[in-house]
Amino acid sequence: MWFNTLGPTRGGALVLDCVGIDFIRPARVNLSRWRLQYRATFMRFHFGPIPSSPDFVPDASWRSLREPTPWLAQLIAFPIGVFVTALVVFLWIIVTPFPEAPTMSISGILLAFVGITVVHELIHAMVHPHMGRSPKSILGCWPSRLVFYAHFDGELTRNRFVAILLMPLLIISIVPLLIAAVAQVTSVWAAFVSSFNALMACVDILGAGIVLFQIPASATLRNQGWKTYWRI
Ligand SMILES: [Zn+2]
Repeated sequence: MWFNTLGPTRGGALVLDCVGIDFIRPARVNLSRWRLQYRATFMRFHFGPIPSSPDFVPDASWRSLREPTPWLAQLIAFPIGVFVTALVVFLWIIVTPFPEAPTMSISGILLAFVGITVVHELIHAMVHPHMGRSPKSILGCWPSRLVFYAHFDGELTRNRFVAILLMPLLIISIVPLLIAAVAQVTSVWAAFVSSFNALMACVDILGAGIVLFQIPASATLRNQGWKTYWRI
C-alpha cells in the first residue's frame, strides 16, 4: 500500500481529500494543486517489499546481476558489518583522544538508532537523480526482512549506483572520524553514531562489492523490486 502525507492513495479512502472535495470547494482546488505538486517533486514512502516497476520488463539487452536474496544478503553482510564496525571503533580509540569510560543510556541508544536509520536512508536518497526530490525515489521499510531501503525506480549509471550505496558510510561513519582525528577532539556519541552506522551499512558494502565485481563502469543499472539488472 502506498502512502503520502494525504493518507492511503491506492485501495483506500482519501481521507483528507474528502474534506476538501465535499465541503470546502476553494480548499479542494488548493489541496489538489498542492497534492499534484507534492507528487511531482517529492520522494514516496513504502511499507513492505521494494515495489516492482510495471513499466520495466527487462528484454534480452539486460543481464541479471548475480545477487543473494534479502535474508542471505543479511547473513553474508553481517560478518562484514561486524568487521567494519570493529575497525571504526578501533580507529576512534586510536586516532582521537577517546575518554576512558564512556557512559550512554539505553533510551539514548534507541533514539540514536531511529535517528541514524532515518538520516542513513535520506543520504542514500540524496545521491539519487534530483537529490531524491522526485516520485522515483522511494524510502521504505520491509519489516519481515529487517530491511530499510532508499529505492530509485529508474536507470542509474554503475558509478552512481555505487555512490548511492556507500554515501551514508562515508558521511556518517568516516567523515566525523576524520574530522575528530584532524582536530583532535572526540565525542562518545559521535563515535557511537559513526560505529553503529557502519554496522547498518553492511548490506550496502556487500552490494557495492557485488556491483563493482560484476558490472563494468560503463553499464547502466535498473532494479525490478529487489532484483538488479544491467546493460552496457
Ligand atoms: Zn544503507
